[in-house]
Amino acid sequence: MKSLKHQILLAICFIAYCSDTFSDGFNAIPLELHFSEPTPQHNIRDKGNAYNPIGTNVINHPQSGLNKAAAQWGFLGHKTINQHAVFALPQPLFGFYKKNIQFITDHAVDPDQRRYTDTAEACRHYIDLDHYEKALPIDTLPKYWKQAVEKFSADTLFAYGIVPYHVQIMLYRLTKAFEEKNLAAILRMSADIGHYVADAHVPLHTTENYDGQLTHQHGIHALWETRIPEISLSSYLLLTESGHFLEQPADSIWNSVSQSHAHLPAVLQTEKSLSQKWPQTKKYELSTDLHGKTKKQIHPKFVKSYEAQLDHMVEIRMKQAIVAVASYWYTAWILAGQPNLDEISDQPQTLESTNPEKTETVISSSILPSRCDGLKHD
Ligand SMILES: [Zn+2]
Repeated sequence: MKSLKHQILLAICFIAYCSDTFSDGFNAIPLELHFSEPTPQHNIRDKGNAYNPIGTNVINHPQSGLNKAAAQWGFLGHKTINQHAVFALPQPLFGFYKKNIQFITDHAVDPDQRRYTDTAEACRHYIDLDHYEKALPIDTLPKYWKQAVEKFSADTLFAYGIVPYHVQIMLYRLTKAFEEKNLAAILRMSADIGHYVADAHVPLHTTENYDGQLTHQHGIHALWETRIPEISLSSYLLLTESGHFLEQPADSIWNSVSQSHAHLPAVLQTEKSLSQKWPQTKKYELSTDLHGKTKKQIHPKFVKSYEAQLDHMVEIRMKQAIVAVASYWYTAWILAGQPNLDEISDQPQTLESTNPEKTETVISSSILPSRCDGLKHD
């Protein structure tokens, strides 16, 4: 039988996102454990996204009317974070995830790819904090979904991003997967929550000025989260502390988002200052990719200089994301009652487990909003 603490934490996840629509058994949680009032001093701060380093899937940004591509760490960053999070796990989870590290790594970017086919996907990767908050600390946005909907409406929340709320529901879903000892679902949810938690650690995923388009700094999104890792990742020391049980998982993701947003002024101002000093003819270079296509990109010398002036913020945020991802995986397993991982690992491969995308679709459609992009704000 689960402890009272575990039931409480599950209740937090429950009311975080899906209290009105969830109907798959978890509404058996005693009503009195559903925290109906948000904690006054919750933290938040960050948003997410914009320029898509991978290229496709551009959505309409609601406030500015600009096209906004849901960007994220880029393939390299996301895969690195999920992969290294495995090594930040305490036993016995480390052994379980190590067996499945290839899947966890390969599928770290699935949420980005789903944006091309799922209209509900894009807003899960960021939150435009500055749409709601004039300054930190965050004291306008409720940390739980239900209270946020009551205050701002679901349409508004979907339009300006929901990453901290979506991480909470992903924790709930991963917990459920562990409870059911469903190997395919565990791996899918683990890869997904790793992606969203990583996105929450990117400063430019927390602002409407997600690609510097409001400050004449177009391309800064890819510079920070894609170009810097491309050039510097091999020199990063990504050994981290171990992940840990999150006593207040909702607070944890809001804190991550808050910290990201707190870095935003430095991200923008440092690039602006450096660009003003840098000869524009030497800021970019032309390179040819593996397909023979020539593209213009920021010169490595500019990238390295920017990174140094940011005091290696990207490497630091990547390491913090790694610990956070491991902590959410570990927390889900604890909340599920620490199921025997040997029983899960030995479970025979089923049709469902060979088609995790199908599993995800079924679960998603029963819980999540049907859309979150293309909303117009007049
Ligand atoms: Zn993303």
